[in-house]
Amino acid sequence: MTALITFDPDRFLRPDNASARPAVLSSSCLNGEPVRYDGRARTVTTHSLLAANLTLQPLCPETGAGLPVPRPPVQLVVAPSEPARSATPTSLRARGRDDPGLDVTDALSRYASASVTTLRKQRPRPAGYLWKSRSPSCGWGTTPLFDNSGTQVGTGDGIQAARVRAELPWLICRDEVGIEEQGAAEQFILLCRLVHDVINETVPLAQLRTAHQPLVTLLDDAALATLLNCVARNDRLGYAAALSTASASGSPAQWLALFGRRPAAARPDSERVG
Ligand code: SF4
Repeated sequence: MTALITFDPDRFLRPDNASARPAVLSSSCLNGEPVRYDGRARTVTTHSLLAANLTLQPLCPETGAGLPVPRPPVQLVVAPSEPARSATPTSLRARGRDDPGLDVTDALSRYASASVTTLRKQRPRPAGYLWKSRSPSCGWGTTPLFDNSGTQVGTGDGIQAARVRAELPWLICRDEVGIEEQGAAEQFILLCRLVHDVINETVPLAQLRTAHQPLVTLLDDAALATLLNCVARNDRLGYAAALSTASASGSPAQWLALFGRRPAAARPDSERVG
């Protein structure tokens, strides 16, 4: 008889060794690196908790593409022929906010393509991504999209985020705004740990499915059917992608309750981790 894996939050949040930690990509400016267009970093109050439980892997698509620090700010401009919508249009350009003659689209697209190719080959596979919101590179569904006159016509993904969404769909993704919600950082750690276990084959998939039985309480019928189909086909990437999609619904508190942990603010200081 196979022993059940029990998802003990205390074990997840205090991993025995660093190699057991999920690899999680992070916008470099959220990791304390002063690489934003204005030469500054962005503070995340839950960063020490994340760093203690995840192997954070900083990435800056703009400096990676060869842009300097500081640099002129850019914004995403939608081609006139393409209607604005919530997903990022394919024909958008990354143009200077103050100098429309500046166009860094090709450099950012080349970097996004090369980095995603590398990330797909990385082992152990990464389990999550912490994004800087509203950035023309790193915004995860939050980047303002403009028309040629400078009027905002919608929101979408930044150039790097759009490529990651298309090619690494299993990643658990949050940004620095969502991760500050009560209990959200711990939920993120737990979900990244689940995805890490699934895609890096730390335990048999069927065994994971049994251990994940409580997940059904948070999933609708379609999401549950997708998960079960993935188990039947031994499709780990599909399973992780379905889990990632499903985790976007439900509140952090619901997911934490699933794993037996109360939201952080409800616990006394002596129970805090990180
Ligand atoms: S938001 Fe992304 S591209 Fe901009 S500084 Fe941060 S890591 Fe670099």
